[in-house]
Amino acid sequence: MKTVKEREPSLELKVLRLLNPRMNLPDDQYYMNLEKGYAGELKLDVWLEGLRNDCLVVNDLLLKHKGKIFQIDSLVIFQRMIHLFDSKYHKGDFYLDDNKWKTIVADEITSPLPQLERCESLLSQLLRQRLNMNLPIEAYLVFTHPEFTLYHASPELPAIFPTQFNSFMKKMNNLGSKLDRSHEKLAEQLVALHLHESPNTQWPEYDFGQLKKGVVCSECSSFMIEKGRIWICAACGQKENSQSAILRSIREFKILFPRERITTPTIIEWCKVEGDRKKVYRTLTKHFKKVGSKSASYYID
Ligand SMILES: [Zn+2]
Repeated sequence: MKTVKEREPSLELKVLRLLNPRMNLPDDQYYMNLEKGYAGELKLDVWLEGLRNDCLVVNDLLLKHKGKIFQIDSLVIFQRMIHLFDSKYHKGDFYLDDNKWKTIVADEITSPLPQLERCESLLSQLLRQRLNMNLPIEAYLVFTHPEFTLYHASPELPAIFPTQFNSFMKKMNNLGSKLDRSHEKLAEQLVALHLHESPNTQWPEYDFGQLKKGVVCSECSSFMIEKGRIWICAACGQKENSQSAILRSIREFKILFPRERITTPTIIEWCKVEGDRKKVYRTLTKHFKKVGSKSASYYID
């Protein structure tokens, strides 16, 4: 098995993670759902690490075909077929009632099947019409939460439940598979077609003045306390030296404000440096390139 494209959090999730400690998110639930979704995808990755035969894994693809955008959590390319996996991180007991998905307390949830079918259909069209590839696709929902149960599910449902992870993995590893250049080319073409930013991306409006300032702990996202040459997290005990804490905060600033100039006063305010302010200047000159002079100077990568 070879991973052609690794997974990373979407820009949307990265931004919300950075905003969360610094402001009240208007839709906390939306953010929590993104975190849960991502946690489930990481479980899918761990499971796919069990692949032993000749295959290519392409993660986290955002593709567009005929004006329609679709997202794929993981694709596994074997010699004679492609597996498409859509991770679902639902927790608890659910049941199927005439194709409706409900929780045990009878709340209806959106059925994940139509989305899977849409994905499969668009991918298959894209492969045939644009990449001239005719490999059959098998698409599955993968329920990655260990405490998930679905009652009344038909064996025909294209789903893999936590209790089936081992047997399904064995089945995949028993597929005879010998890849050639055409498979690698296919994976490369799919990665090249990947859209980096989803048009559905949504995050709240924010500006520099409104966000809470300070250095946020990399472990638990609480604000850290400046103590001489280090920052300490009162919540989890994490310690970090000035340079690394400031540098990390600058990187965070850049994600949140990609068009803003990085200047010494901005970063002093952003990190809420109250002790020796020269450490900000030292970090900036060491890791960035200075542009301009005196009070008008700013820093770029
Ligand atoms: Zn902490």
